[in-house]
Amino acid sequence: MLRKAEPPPYQGFEQGPIRPPSEAQSLLVRVTRNCHWNRCAFCPVYKGTRFSMRPVEHVLRDLESVARHVETLSLLSAGPGLLLEEDVREVFNTLPAEETAPFRAALSWFVSGMESVFLQDADSLVLRPAQLAGILNRLRELFPTVRRITSYSRSQTIDRMPEDSLRALGDAGLNRIHIGMESGCDTVLAMMRKGATKEVHVRAGLKVKAAGMELSEYYMPGLGGCGLWREHARDTADAVNRINPDFIRLRTLAVPGRSPLAEEVSAGRFRKCPDILAAEEILLFLDGLEGCTGYLASDHILNLFPEVEGRLPHELPRMKECIRRFLAMGPEARFIYQLGRRLGILSCLNDLEDSVRKSNVLEAARRYGVTPENLDETTDRIVRRFI
Ligand code: SF4
Repeated sequence: MLRKAEPPPYQGFEQGPIRPPSEAQSLLVRVTRNCHWNRCAFCPVYKGTRFSMRPVEHVLRDLESVARHVETLSLLSAGPGLLLEEDVREVFNTLPAEETAPFRAALSWFVSGMESVFLQDADSLVLRPAQLAGILNRLRELFPTVRRITSYSRSQTIDRMPEDSLRALGDAGLNRIHIGMESGCDTVLAMMRKGATKEVHVRAGLKVKAAGMELSEYYMPGLGGCGLWREHARDTADAVNRINPDFIRLRTLAVPGRSPLAEEVSAGRFRKCPDILAAEEILLFLDGLEGCTGYLASDHILNLFPEVEGRLPHELPRMKECIRRFLAMGPEARFIYQLGRRLGILSCLNDLEDSVRKSNVLEAARRYGVTPENLDETTDRIVRRFI
């Protein structure tokens, strides 16, 4: 008789390496480790790691640890999220080593209001729906104040799921899915080994919405490089129009050395768009949006224009105007903006009117030897620090 394999032993509380910027306040709950696809050329995050699913009992142990610490913090608290540092330190100092990580997670979540949870890592929907629903049910039992539970997923995974399984996960509390569409252009998707076509992205996006969940789609300006930026912008706008997601999030391409795309760049097979071309691409993308009513967010540090953000379609003219303003600037003002934004000295185009900030950017340019000729290379180096 075949004996059921023993689950591996619990390896302690775990959290994965990344989350969407909009999940900064969320409790991170790791249900799988790494990425089962792991082939996207631009993505360095899980390269060299092995994918695995965590046993459900291990995830539940993590949740129960956080719940215990949240209970302790509630007893110490003088009001929602109000804690005295010395009280927290006193409790922390008595904890066994294995409890410090869940305590830290509970603490930062507690002070953030405990309203949202993000399931990690790259695609939690690969778990069997019944198992994921079990985790979601326990989460809501332990933390009844939670209003939002979200996860990354791949379009390919969602496309293969039966509609009723997706709906059952929605009913169990999973109410927002983040999908890295990156592009709606099939040539770009194939070149980047995304493992999904435009049609798969569109079907998956519509399926998430039909299941009653919120949908957040990521668009990666720059991913078509100098050769395909127009097709990339137009086809992505078309895919987004057909889905009409609740959120469209911009996350500009960066090419860290650990990504397969870095080799393509070194070999001259992929030419990265300079900022000015990336700005034209975003403008073309915005020009192509029709009938979208969601929120366009520019909430990633890699983006050149944080103010290209707002409700569609009403705020679209303002967003386009912002990019046109950048494109119409003289070379010196553009140089100051590009460098100042990447150094964190300027946060929007209007900051160019602040003479102190402007002279700080020029001083930094002098100190680090940045010139219009080496600006793109320098900004590439700076943004790689953020990945
Ligand atoms: S982009 Fe997402 S799906 Fe692609 S390799 Fe990275 S984590 Fe995996």
